[in-house]
Amino acid sequence: MNVQEVRFRKPAADETSEQFFLDRSSFPQRATIVATAAAAEAEDVDRQGRFPQKAIDAARAQKLLGVQIPQSFGGDGAPISDIAEMCYTLGRACASTAMIFAMHQTKVACLVRHGAGSKWHEALMRRVAAEQLLLASSTTEGQNGGNIRFSTAAVERTDAEISLVRNATVISYGAQADGIVTIARRANDAAGSDQVLLAITKDDYTLEPSLEWETLGMRGTCSAGFELKFKGTADQIFPEGYDKIHAQTMTPVAHLCWSSAWAGIAAAAVDRAQAFIRKAARGAGGQMPPGAAHFTAAKMTLTKLRAIITASLDTYAVHEHDERALSSLDFQSQINLLKVEASELAVETVMSAMRACGLSGYRNDGDFSLGRHLRDVLSAPIMINNDRILANIATASLMSGVPASLRD
Ligand SMILES: Cc1cc2nc3c(=O)[nH]c(=O)nc-3n(C[C@H](O)[C@H](O)[C@H](O)COP(=O)(O)OP(=O)(O)OC[C@H]3O[C@@H](n4cnc5c(N)ncnc54)[C@H](O)[C@@H]3O)c2cc1C
Repeated sequence: MNVQEVRFRKPAADETSEQFFLDRSSFPQRATIVATAAAAEAEDVDRQGRFPQKAIDAARAQKLLGVQIPQSFGGDGAPISDIAEMCYTLGRACASTAMIFAMHQTKVACLVRHGAGSKWHEALMRRVAAEQLLLASSTTEGQNGGNIRFSTAAVERTDAEISLVRNATVISYGAQADGIVTIARRANDAAGSDQVLLAITKDDYTLEPSLEWETLGMRGTCSAGFELKFKGTADQIFPEGYDKIHAQTMTPVAHLCWSSAWAGIAAAAVDRAQAFIRKAARGAGGQMPPGAAHFTAAKMTLTKLRAIITASLDTYAVHEHDERALSSLDFQSQINLLKVEASELAVETVMSAMRACGLSGYRNDGDFSLGRHLRDVLSAPIMINNDRILANIATASLMSGVPASLRD
């Protein structure tokens, strides 16, 4: 057994060793099939601002929407490192598809880690695997922006029944999703930061459109605004409080998957810049064009970007079951700074690739066009605004010491 095949999680009590040790060999091929479908419609998805239906159909056909669900619940039990790799592969093909996949997998990670032991959530896990349900995310509310740790809407309770009405200003693929994972105040008299996480499915909520998604990039995510109205049962609330889920799963998995999707966009831009520089050098009898230094810079920042993602993936894998380590200031700072750094490096890489290509990159037609990549990647620093994250972790950064050695 290759050590790489060992899953980064504890075996469940009833799990056989065949179920626990995972065969990951099919993942790259399945992800490539989806990426091929995504690449074929990427330009039209961007132009029309439409949902990448064929790519998501391909993900369903390849059973990738349930790939993270444990084998005992009908999935493949893929670890986060494989999910991140898939986000990167998809990001190279179509940014919107990659981001949809990344957001869905973040919701599934919450379900897998925090839904185990809850009948309702376990049944949903089985449904995600069997029916390949697509889960969306609703955290943004009203004018609250990326302040995820504060909710306005509260869960209303009448006996075992609960309801929620939420001014959800942004829900990516809300209209296309089969379910939503959303935060809310625990109860009417609870503080804004006393939050719970709920998993709700299409049959128990309605979405009234409130805001269109007419944006610069990431147009295929169709992240429109809605009034969300839900009626269901109390067991749809995750047993653990949102504060824990946020620290242990929602933030780390979101930042790892998003960063991988952005790295994929950056890699696609580097690909185009490389093809451009090669063509230009061939045309000039082997002499490098003046933009070659920008191509080297793009490769350099892509290398940095991949390195910080893989380092954080390794750290997360090591501490995945250590609640104290995941809640520590050091880990929380690292995983938040990953998002900030990865988003900035991804933008820098695409910008360098664009400058390497010059007008050929700036044009909207032609093989070296980079307009779509640039527009898509510019969403990265504002998807939970980097300024907000940096301001939030300023105190924690002051409190943690400066490392005494390279591998501290
Ligand atoms: C492609 C895409 C898809 C998305 N999908 C979803 C989704 O599916 N579900 C969902 O719920 N949300 C989604 N969002 C929204 C996202 O989660 C954030 O709510 C949103 O990106 C925050 O945008 P903002 O910068 O306007 O908001 P804010 O964070 O409120 O920032 C607004 C402005 O205030 C500044 N600012 C804010 N706080 C501080 C601070 N503390 N210090 C200094 N300056 C500060 C920022 O620099 C910024 O200029 C998506 C966003 C994008 C881009």
